[in-house]
Amino acid sequence: MTTPTAAVRERALSLGAEELPAYLYDLAPLRAHVAEVRAALPESVELYYAAKANPEPEILAALRPYVDGYEVSSGGELAHVAKTVPDAPLAFGGPGKTPKEIAQALELGVRRFHVESLYELHMLGRLAADLAPDRRVAVLARFNLPVDDGSLDGSSLAMGGRPTPFGLDPEQADEVVARLTDGSYPQLELVGVHAHLASGLEAPEQLAVSEAIVTWAARLARRHRISLPEVTVGGGMAVDYAAPERRFDWAAYGAGLARLAAAHPGVTLRIEPGRALTAYCGWYATEVLDVKRSHGEEFAVVRGGTHHLRTPATKGHDQPCTVLPTDAPWPHPWPRSAARGDRVTLTGQLCTPKDVLARAVPAAGLRAGDRVVFGLAGAYAWNISHHDFLMHPRPGFHFLGTAQEG
Ligand SMILES: *Cc1c(COP(=O)(O)O)cnc(C)c1O
Repeated sequence: MTTPTAAVRERALSLGAEELPAYLYDLAPLRAHVAEVRAALPESVELYYAAKANPEPEILAALRPYVDGYEVSSGGELAHVAKTVPDAPLAFGGPGKTPKEIAQALELGVRRFHVESLYELHMLGRLAADLAPDRRVAVLARFNLPVDDGSLDGSSLAMGGRPTPFGLDPEQADEVVARLTDGSYPQLELVGVHAHLASGLEAPEQLAVSEAIVTWAARLARRHRISLPEVTVGGGMAVDYAAPERRFDWAAYGAGLARLAAAHPGVTLRIEPGRALTAYCGWYATEVLDVKRSHGEEFAVVRGGTHHLRTPATKGHDQPCTVLPTDAPWPHPWPRSAARGDRVTLTGQLCTPKDVLARAVPAAGLRAGDRVVFGLAGAYAWNISHHDFLMHPRPGFHFLGTAQEG
């Protein structure tokens, strides 16, 4: 279970059936949460938001006062974020950058490139020479570093420490440094190392990974007698879908980063979380269409489903939710269907058994017409879903706590 904010609850109950489902984003708690994250970090640590977690313009704008910049991973995100939060520093990362995307980034004045391969380094170097001969382009080489102390064992999605298509192999480090320091590409300036090795790490593991990355970068700098003044240690801070009120321990992580920064004077540390910043501000509100029994189990079919909120299907969890019973007079001439037991599985309108939002939810007496609000739907939710499957209508989008909303 999860408790919606008063504003979310009020909106979920006041929208008409045909206005559901709806994504409700509560921006006041978002601002408060990110302000708290910022305050827990040492001042010297830079906070970038990974836009792919949720690139809604209202969300990008709400984060602007608290973040130092945005990490974008495609030409589409790049154009969108540059337009939505003009003047914000951007770091352009992601595998498989095309020549067109790199040219676009150079034209838009992107300050930092996370280079994922030697091929990409050559491409960037040549395009920068042709397109931006007077510009200096800051390069962070993204490495898929080995993390051999078991820190990644608890992660839900490992991007590093094992064979993956992400980043450079550590074996290539010397060649990367050579190409960036031998005058081949005078526009490119190697400023540091980037790594994003896993998602779903709690503070102690995240800190161990961060330390491993910073230590590795320091060794690389020493070996080549160069300075690497920037280290980005990635995102991946845990969000616990089974305990929605629990939060990543930003205070402990911030204190650890302060120790790490003190041990590496002259190095700017940067983090780039996505999920752990915006997951909590988003809610998917809908209504129960039907309640039925099947082979001894009860199911409630709600308006919408995993084509709007794919998160529980991709991560294999039950999306935390709250039932808001409605006592308004039943407007139809047919009887209201209702649950007889006290556990109900909530499914969507898709013709596939995978369209399950939450299993065995305690919902005694659940009836058609009741409202259900799913929490932790502010990151990797709408934007990762297969919207067009079955051609149901799209949800509404409401940004609560904006100037227009009062
Ligand atoms: C996705 C991604 C992030 C953000 O990850 P979260 O798990 O949302 O915090 C950060 N950096 C890179 C390179 C990414 O691909």
